[in-house]
Amino acid sequence: MKNLLVMKFGGTSMGSADRIKTAARLSREQQEQRPVVVVVSAMAKITDLLLDTLRKAERGDGDGTEGNLKQLADRHLVACGELLSGPALDEAVEGVEALVAEFSRIVNGVRMLGEGPPRAVDEAVAIGEQLSALLMASYLRHKGARARAVNAREIIVTDAVFGNATPLMGPTGEKAQRLLRPLVQDGILPVVTGFNGATMDGRCTTLGRGGSDFSASILAASLEAEELWIWTDVDGIMTADPRLVPDPAVLHEVTYREAAELAYNGAKVLHPRTLAPLAERQIPVWSKNSFAPEKPGTKIVPEVKTPPGPRAVTSMAHVALISMEPDSAEISGTRLMGRALDALSSTSAEVLAITSSSYRQSFCFLVRKDELGRAVEALESSLSLELAHGYLKPIDVDDNVGLLAVVGEGMRGSPGLAGRIFTAISREKVNIIAIAQGSSELTIAIVVARDGLDKAVRAVHAECKMGELARRA
Ligand code: ASP
Ligand code: MG
Repeated sequence: MKNLLVMKFGGTSMGSADRIKTAARLSREQQEQRPVVVVVSAMAKITDLLLDTLRKAERGDGDGTEGNLKQLADRHLVACGELLSGPALDEAVEGVEALVAEFSRIVNGVRMLGEGPPRAVDEAVAIGEQLSALLMASYLRHKGARARAVNAREIIVTDAVFGNATPLMGPTGEKAQRLLRPLVQDGILPVVTGFNGATMDGRCTTLGRGGSDFSASILAASLEAEELWIWTDVDGIMTADPRLVPDPAVLHEVTYREAAELAYNGAKVLHPRTLAPLAERQIPVWSKNSFAPEKPGTKIVPEVKTPPGPRAVTSMAHVALISMEPDSAEISGTRLMGRALDALSSTSAEVLAITSSSYRQSFCFLVRKDELGRAVEALESSLSLELAHGYLKPIDVDDNVGLLAVVGEGMRGSPGLAGRIFTAISREKVNIIAIAQGSSELTIAIVVARDGLDKAVRAVHAECKMGELARRA
């Protein structure tokens, strides 16, 4: 749709009545100039609260669940009171109470069962976004806009991987064109729930934590939007985490590939899957700060004019390294690696990096710490015979490591760069445990001892003059 703007507001940008007022103002400013679709996250910390409530219900913690339900209702009712008045307030209060009742009905089911089946959990957590969409749309209407809350389960069609679903772009595009487009053409401002969708046969799904960014990009691609703006609480994509380095800078422009690598390797600004639907249509994305909307933010585009080289460094502290090594010359390391990867692919554990070397064909995988248990269990069970017969050494786990990733288009073409990075890290006396340079050519992933991670990030940021270069660009 020509000049359509999709805008997504994250949890902090929806975190209170005041924040919702700002989000509504930003939406209306744009809607005066062009058609707009808004996508919202749940209010900050609400998804955590919903998940915590479900866990408490599983454990049979009645007081805990009741307390949480009260918090859930209070937080939204207080916001309603600050945003609305008169009949609009009554209507919104009724809406909030109905959604809280729906959540509480699922929670009771979970309490009785003693467990939360994944599809029930998805149906329950998606209520956070329904609550925030209700608040935003009510407030916009109260201010005279023609806004309507839309539940993305009517639009985004996904596979049935509950908790981490993948959109089916064909059917989603068809629904978006059929259901959303006429609203927009009619001058209505749709406020769509982020994070959720439904399977072809209507079962609720969610797109993974932080998935509202992904919802927004799915809709932007489906509606052939002109731009996507993602509103967060930071000034854009930065050269490094400002809590770790003294002089980080906002990058004016990054490529889709750089943004995706940064997100994947721990930068919090974007959900890693956000950019995939947009690349094909080359829809540009802006990452902007709703607390400082006058600042330009970062533009994510297919190509940038800046010279190639390392542009940003990210890190992940909560990771673990799983190492495996054949214990017998009779067994092929390659086959073993294949089996191990196969075992991991059957779990939801994601392999963040792989390295392999030496004539013994040892190899290691880096995984998130909270997925470690599942990963090791899958490896041990599918390789139980090899382990029992001594073809394979016991699986070794090191969870005292961290991952650092240096990202920039064209890095591979910069001779001596890897040397400089490694020297900078070793100058800090930080031990490098594993290195992986993907064939993507734009990321060097380095596994270091956990207690040296922050130091290593600072050293690499300084050595590559990332802050300075970004400020000069
Ligand atoms: N509310 C969801 C979460 O916290 C989705 C999002 O915020 O993007 O994960
Ligand atoms: Mg988010």
